[in-house]
Amino acid sequence: MVDKKFENLKEELEELRDEHKTIEKQSRKLEEKVLELYTLYNISKTLSMSHQLDDLFNGTMTMVGEALNIGEWCLMLLQGDELFIRVAHGLGEDVRSKVRFRLDEGVSGKVARSGKAVLIQDVSKEKDFLYYKGFKKDIGSFLSVPLIVKGEVIGLLNTHKPQTNAFRKSDLELFTAVAEHVSVAIEKARLFEKTKEDAARDELTKLYNRRFFFEKLGQELKRAKRYKRGFSIIIMDIDHFKNYNDLYGHIQGDNALRQTARIMEEALRGEDIVARFGGEEFIMLLPEVDKEHAVMAAEKLRKRIADAKYIGEDLLPGGRFTASFGVSSYPEDGEEGLQLIDMADKALYLSKNKGRNRVFSSNDLNI
Ligand code: GH3
Ligand code: MG
Ligand code: MG
Repeated sequence: MVDKKFENLKEELEELRDEHKTIEKQSRKLEEKVLELYTLYNISKTLSMSHQLDDLFNGTMTMVGEALNIGEWCLMLLQGDELFIRVAHGLGEDVRSKVRFRLDEGVSGKVARSGKAVLIQDVSKEKDFLYYKGFKKDIGSFLSVPLIVKGEVIGLLNTHKPQTNAFRKSDLELFTAVAEHVSVAIEKARLFEKTKEDAARDELTKLYNRRFFFEKLGQELKRAKRYKRGFSIIIMDIDHFKNYNDLYGHIQGDNALRQTARIMEEALRGEDIVARFGGEEFIMLLPEVDKEHAVMAAEKLRKRIADAKYIGEDLLPGGRFTASFGVSSYPEDGEEGLQLIDMADKALYLSKNKGRNRVFSSNDLNI
């Protein structure tokens, strides 16, 4: 009787133990899930806050690595049909700067082509695995997930560990979810940068616009004042442009404006700001350039425009398509932007009055 009761109790205890184990297992699973969700939440929060690509890549990807306890990862982007490493963690400088994969090349190239994630538990058994072209040999297991925007692969997230069988299936799922968030954030950041770039450009010529020019001028003035440096401004106005429009119409006039814009961009240096000031007037900011050298730059530009072939220019006064220029410089012509522009404008009108197709600077005023 007592024995029987004891047996029953033992059985009940076993059942309870089993139940306890199941609950413990479920609770662990639940904890893991919560951690994953929390990680995802944090990632998406950070991603949605970072508008600029560089912030996004550096800040967020470091967090991804930390949150998922991954020491080695990289984000590759597709440029044309080549993958290059945009950000990496735990990979040497050689890998970052030298390794490129074409579409279909190696495992990464295949993921980029197919748009399908790959988890390889032992890379030594995978003939396509290239160990970042031999630059990274200690890889045991490898996980690669594509970044997809509007159905198109734009890059991928790779992660690896030195040991084989180091990833769980849930890592693949989590990494895939991370890749989705990263893709959306990249798309947003790209759109943001494009919008910002478009807002700074003139529609017709694609040169910078007036608003952007004033922004840069303000920054340059601050910089020049702080470091006691100089800079120059060139204003340019096309000669007899009304005449050209009247002869050939507005469409051809627009073409001539675009042609002139390209000549200006080619003639000036990368750090110079070339903007359309309005109509057929353009303005340039030349950082670190004094008046003498700015006059030389304007002269070079004047010559290039005068020498370029413009459709129908033979019917213009003088038989050539030309422009006139005015130059002023900080600090000698004024402490404020509008003063500098005014001085350059006055020099420009001197060029017009003296017969056009000329360069004058503020030095030539009042003489
Ligand atoms: P000047 O040598 O004294 O500068 O003479 P101009 O004819 O160039 O100067 P004016 O200011 O009399 O005329 C400027 C002309 O530029 C008039 C205007 O129709 C034309 N223009 C302004 N913006 C545009 C544009 O976006 N496209 C075209 N096709 N023409 C434009
Ligand atoms: Mg004008
Ligand atoms: Mg004009």
